[in-house]
Amino acid sequence: MLDSALFLAAKDFHLFPADHPGLPQCAGRARGHDPATCTDRGKHPAVAFTRNHSTDPAKLAYWFHTQLHNIAVCVGACRGPAGERLLVVDSDRPGAIEDTAAALGHKWLPTMRVTTAKGHHDYLWAPRAMKLGNGLGSLRGRFDGDVRAGNAYVIAAGSVHATGVIYTLEDPERPPAQAPDWLISALQARPAATRRTPVSGQPSGNLTPLVRFVLESREKERNNRLFWASCRAFEANSAPSPNIASSLLEAAVRIGLPEAEARQTITSAYRSRAAR
Ligand SMILES: [Zn+2]
Repeated sequence: MLDSALFLAAKDFHLFPADHPGLPQCAGRARGHDPATCTDRGKHPAVAFTRNHSTDPAKLAYWFHTQLHNIAVCVGACRGPAGERLLVVDSDRPGAIEDTAAALGHKWLPTMRVTTAKGHHDYLWAPRAMKLGNGLGSLRGRFDGDVRAGNAYVIAAGSVHATGVIYTLEDPERPPAQAPDWLISALQARPAATRRTPVSGQPSGNLTPLVRFVLESREKERNNRLFWASCRAFEANSAPSPNIASSLLEAAVRIGLPEAEARQTITSAYRSRAAR
């Protein structure tokens, strides 16, 4: 694990420790997340990663040699050779991004790729001036996967998935390519299909203030607010509809929470209400 971390850090990828599926319970530290009951193992940040990430070998040795952790990349902290921002395209099945590119009349060119349990992560450099988040823009509904940019993270090569699959660099010498213009344009486009989703439209009943409460979170309070709003939403509805969870999830992703983390928080809130 340390070898993988040192290899990536030498290429200036900023790293931090995440849960490892071999630990007796999840090392994830997010508010509203119960390590003892976590079932989404091997992915959750073990530190407050937006501030606590490093390329320093001594720190990496502490995280990845003296302790058992998966390696994660702090996407927002990484910069390309000309100051570019890191953008990771996460295909949920092999070839997903190639299919999307082809459907839009483009060819997906080789770039730094990590194979995952389900598909692959493609690392790309996006222009420094671009403001990208985790939204899919106009690719929503056209791509089987996610995009990680800005305040986000991905599990890195060398890590172990809960299924035992090891995240692996396809070609260790291949650096991230420049993100193609069509991809950047698509990610910055407003998702036509989601204009009238509950977040911007009229969510059922008393949900609007809760969604707004999440949307107005400052960075440090996002998870707390999401957890609180989820608890209130589930309390107010004896039969929770998928609409509630998806509205809150969309709001959380919109403010930059990684989708998996937001899902976990909402699930925890639901479980804690259900337990009552
Ligand atoms: Zn966890």
